[in-house]
Amino acid sequence: MNDTILVVGAGPTGLSAAAGAASIGRNVVLVEKENVLGGAPILSGYAKLVPSGEWAKDAIGRMVRRVESDSRVTIHRATKVTRVEGDHGDFTCTLSNNQTVKAGAIILGTGFTHFDSINKPEWGFGTFEDVVTTTQVEQMVAAGKIACPSDGRVPQRVAILLCVGSRDRQIGREWCSKICCTVSTNLAMEIKEISPRTDVFIYYMDIRTFGLYEDKYYWKSQEEFKTKFVKARIAEVTKAPDGRLLVKGEDTLVKRPIVIPMDLVVHAIGMDPNADNPEIAKVFGVGLEKHGFLDRGEQYTSTFSSTRRGIYVGGAALAPEDIDTSISHGLAMAMRAVGELAGAVEKAA
Ligand SMILES: Cc1cc2nc3c(=O)[nH]c(=O)nc-3n(C[C@H](O)[C@H](O)[C@H](O)COP(=O)(O)OP(=O)(O)OC[C@H]3O[C@@H](n4cnc5c(N)ncnc54)[C@H](O)[C@@H]3O)c2cc1C
Ligand code: SF4
Repeated sequence: MNDTILVVGAGPTGLSAAAGAASIGRNVVLVEKENVLGGAPILSGYAKLVPSGEWAKDAIGRMVRRVESDSRVTIHRATKVTRVEGDHGDFTCTLSNNQTVKAGAIILGTGFTHFDSINKPEWGFGTFEDVVTTTQVEQMVAAGKIACPSDGRVPQRVAILLCVGSRDRQIGREWCSKICCTVSTNLAMEIKEISPRTDVFIYYMDIRTFGLYEDKYYWKSQEEFKTKFVKARIAEVTKAPDGRLLVKGEDTLVKRPIVIPMDLVVHAIGMDPNADNPEIAKVFGVGLEKHGFLDRGEQYTSTFSSTRRGIYVGGAALAPEDIDTSISHGLAMAMRAVGELAGAVEKAA
């Protein structure tokens, strides 16, 4: 029996799991495939997070420093797990840096992959320089300047297109990515703060600013920041002779075609299953659900178990998820992993 906890992925989920297990005295090995810790909010340079309003680099940076300064946590950067042998209480894992780790339980916080807008070519990404993604605008906000990439001008009109790579059966993405309505309404306000004369339009099928976010984001962005909401089905994004972008579609409230010229078009990209998931499923011997996210075991009495005993899964590896919930998953997985290992040790004694 070994009571070390192996945590894979150092995003909000994995960082929370590692800190949680270490806080109750367990040794933790944290394996992250990138050189930098922090997951999507750091790797993609998010600006201010919803709902805290705190800069991602500060909020997630604190989580990174907590783990880095904990002597119980050994960190392997730019590393993957390539082989897992054994069973609950006694796993032997081979790492891509040729080290071997022995652990009693494994926590998967391997997260998601941003939808690649190239897979939605009719909406102009990859064809027109001034069609960008929410992550690119997050980086502009973090740098304090909103500009059209083609010539650096401040846009007079910005269109944010929701559900890009989500709720789209035609391209095999049936899920709602949960956070992008809230993130987009927040971005609309941030754009206005930086550039008060810019008009921001949000094109939507439905607005899902879930839970407590309805007034803080949807209504505030509409009433205080004058964001214009257009319920529409977008057909395509093309270019007008004067060089501006044309967002073409149908206004589904009045059932009329609409064509509105824009300077900058933003794709609110969704959360795809981690592109590594087929490899993760093979290496760790865990299942995938039908969309390609990692599958869960029994939900109600064995929350966060994967389909293999002693391996736990949570955060955006399971489904599109926000940061607060991912952090809770991480902590809960740490408690389950440590608790079930203690039970296994007792039984073996
Ligand atoms: C544009 C956008 C903006 C967002 N803004 C917000 C916001 O303001 N507030 C909010 O609450 N949520 C926001 N989210 C959601 C947020 O990104 C997720 O909730 C969060 O990143 C999930 O954390 P995670 O640790 O589960 O996954 P991730 O952040 O994806 O972290 C997973 C980590 O695992 C690593 N990894 C992956 N595969 C492997 C492997 N095979 N081996 C080793 N390591 C691996 C990755 O490199 C990464 O470091 C946003 C999402 C998008 C798309
Ligand atoms: S959260 Fe909003 S933008 Fe994102 S997929 Fe769901 S409905 Fe679409």
